[in-house]
Amino acid sequence: RRADAVDLMEGLNPQQRQAVLHEGSPLLIVAGAGSGKTTVLTRRIARLLQTGACRPSEILAITFTNKAAAEMVERITDLVGPRAKAMWISTFHSACVRILRREAKIVGLKSNFSIYDSADALRLVTLCAREADLDPKRFPPKSLMIQISNLKNELIDDEAYAATASDTNPQERAVSEVYRLYTARLRQANAFDFDDLIMTTVNLLRAFPQVAEHYRRRFRHILVDEYQDTNHAQYALVRELVGGHNHQDQADGAESALLPPAELTVVGDADQSIYAFRGATIRNIVEFENDYPDATTILLEQNYRSTQNILSAANSVISQNPDRPAKKLWTDQGAGELIVGYVADSEHDEARFIAEEIDKLCDEGHAAPKDVAIFYRTNAQSRALEEVLVRVGLPYKVVGGTRFYERREIKDALAYLRVLANPTDTVNLRRILNVPKRAIGDRAEAMVAAFAERERIPFSQALRQAEEAPGLATRSLNAIRSFVQLLDDMTTVAQTARPPRVLEAVLEQTGYLAELRASRDPQDESRVENLAELVAVVEDFSRANPEGTLNDFLEQVSLVADADQIPDKDDDGGVVTLMTLHTAKGLEFPVVFVTGLEDGAFPHSRAFTSNAELAEERRLAYVGLTRARKRLYLTRAESRSMWGQPQYNPPSRFLAEVPDSLMDWKRLGNVGASSLSAPVRTQPTFTSPRGGTSAGAGRVQANREVISLEPGEKVSHGSFGLGTVVEVSGVADKAIATVDFGSAGTKRLLLRYAPVEKL
Ligand code: ATP
Ligand code: MG
Repeated sequence: RRADAVDLMEGLNPQQRQAVLHEGSPLLIVAGAGSGKTTVLTRRIARLLQTGACRPSEILAITFTNKAAAEMVERITDLVGPRAKAMWISTFHSACVRILRREAKIVGLKSNFSIYDSADALRLVTLCAREADLDPKRFPPKSLMIQISNLKNELIDDEAYAATASDTNPQERAVSEVYRLYTARLRQANAFDFDDLIMTTVNLLRAFPQVAEHYRRRFRHILVDEYQDTNHAQYALVRELVGGHNHQDQADGAESALLPPAELTVVGDADQSIYAFRGATIRNIVEFENDYPDATTILLEQNYRSTQNILSAANSVISQNPDRPAKKLWTDQGAGELIVGYVADSEHDEARFIAEEIDKLCDEGHAAPKDVAIFYRTNAQSRALEEVLVRVGLPYKVVGGTRFYERREIKDALAYLRVLANPTDTVNLRRILNVPKRAIGDRAEAMVAAFAERERIPFSQALRQAEEAPGLATRSLNAIRSFVQLLDDMTTVAQTARPPRVLEAVLEQTGYLAELRASRDPQDESRVENLAELVAVVEDFSRANPEGTLNDFLEQVSLVADADQIPDKDDDGGVVTLMTLHTAKGLEFPVVFVTGLEDGAFPHSRAFTSNAELAEERRLAYVGLTRARKRLYLTRAESRSMWGQPQYNPPSRFLAEVPDSLMDWKRLGNVGASSLSAPVRTQPTFTSPRGGTSAGAGRVQANREVISLEPGEKVSHGSFGLGTVVEVSGVADKAIATVDFGSAGTKRLLLRYAPVEKL
């Protein structure tokens, strides 16, 4: 499609047009759910490009998930063609990773830094708390981690915190000490956790005016979706990138004053702010006009997503929240169907009702599986739903929950790859030290760690100097030596082979796969399948990114969020989507089931004692209800097993907040005799990042001939050039040749993976 052939104003209402056309001052678009905020943002970008107001590379747009970013790129590409690819459309985290990879040297890190997910971060916090001799009962690592995360979201680094923390308050002293250690260990490991990505970027921009200047010159238009869920650090990041404010660095001020601030557009809805537990604050919306004094605010009031009944129900619930400005959201779509309510006697009965309804909707041609979403408050609630869906054969996908990348074997395999990409990555190095078992026990590990601490060297360095560490048994020392040798061999493979081959090499050469295959534990069988799936994931990645490095792959893995696994809707019938209410933000489905509406489940029992938390739960309900376009179901169960015990919870207060006139209640026994009666136990299903179920999707190895070499023979290597074989050891798959490549040095090559030819 030709860019100029598309009328970007088509179908927009006057407020939406105004928002798309607005120029100059900072722009805030506030509006309720489904009023076209994301649509307007997308069209605004397309219009900037279409009119030539700016080049694609001058645009930075921030979305809440990678998936949303990809969709936005796709939509804009549809509108203006492939030049859209030069834009930065990404999440806050991905944008910061890009900036930090480029600028790593300035902050004293290498650009191959690792990104620690929350499990890695917790492991490191636990190690630090142990190092600080803290009693884990009194100072649980998890709680320390949350406190450190909160501080980072407020841009308070370890030094700043140490300066304010009270020495006499044991809690503050503990946090301060662990924060200090944790920061030092991260730096030593050349690693960032998620919160660091943002905080470090802000600090970088503030401390290095010429770097800030570079990005300010580059990004002339900055657009942020879901602004209500930004935290303080993200707010500050936007502010630094926009520029134009009185920066503390006056010496540099003369020059930057010449550069007008970037044009900022933010869109959001305070009623959909649901990430307070991660430091998100609606302050950023409420105070926008103070933060940017010449700002323009545009309100959108027409909802295009839902029927009037659905909208009225959602409005009625959210209007119970105190301290919010009343909003008038209307639609011209007509009343539509009544909202269906169902009271089940148990969660199994609830699941059965849902499956039957979906079946009926599909039979009668009202919907296909892909049109349907089922929401719940916590991941554990998906289980009962899954059992029934499996049983009746409705195709479905659980988004989030038992995440593929959190499985032990996947984390182990990735830990190897991370160590190859970043040898100083301590957490991952320690994870694989004795996996599979290679006689480097806890005691040996502790001795190396103590040695590293005393010598102030990274753990990886200490391993290499293990003979200097006092007290190590010869057996451990030998095991450490061959482990180091193994890593070096793998590193050589990683320098030349493409990521899928590197992973294969790791799985085979470490003996990891062999150990699983030899096991009689049926769980280990599925671990092998999962690893096969991981190989297939890497192969997909390499196909899509022929130039992609191991680091690129790892970065993509680190930044995947639950919402990124939402199935595409292009296939025919598609699948029913199950997810938590949090993950549902920004999405829409023709048919929505909001389940588990019981006081104690939703709202969560935690909210009973806090008005702020109850208000947040209500916003979550508002998000859930407003995802529905045509049909909305609200269900609850009289009893639900939680923590292994049946709980009898009263109906959710949110149900009472929906006017009765909008509801069509179906009660127990109302549903046709069920063919689905007895709940069945199934294996936990999980879906892989590629969307399929795991079983045998990829093969771990295809047998290849191993070249046979003799000392003295000449070879040619894809990267190292010409060389002479010095020594050969091992046979078949394990054959290793030591080759002298002259100026490229002497290398040990695993022949199975090395791109060598005999001359
Ligand atoms: P949320 O608050 O849930 O993020 P939103 O405000 O971002 O919602 P969108 O997702 O942009 O809303 O739009 C909701 C739906 O309305 C989409 O299906 C979109 O295509 C449609 N829509 C938006 N504006 C118009 C319009 N002017 N005419 C017709 N449909 C529209
Ligand atoms: Mg939106």
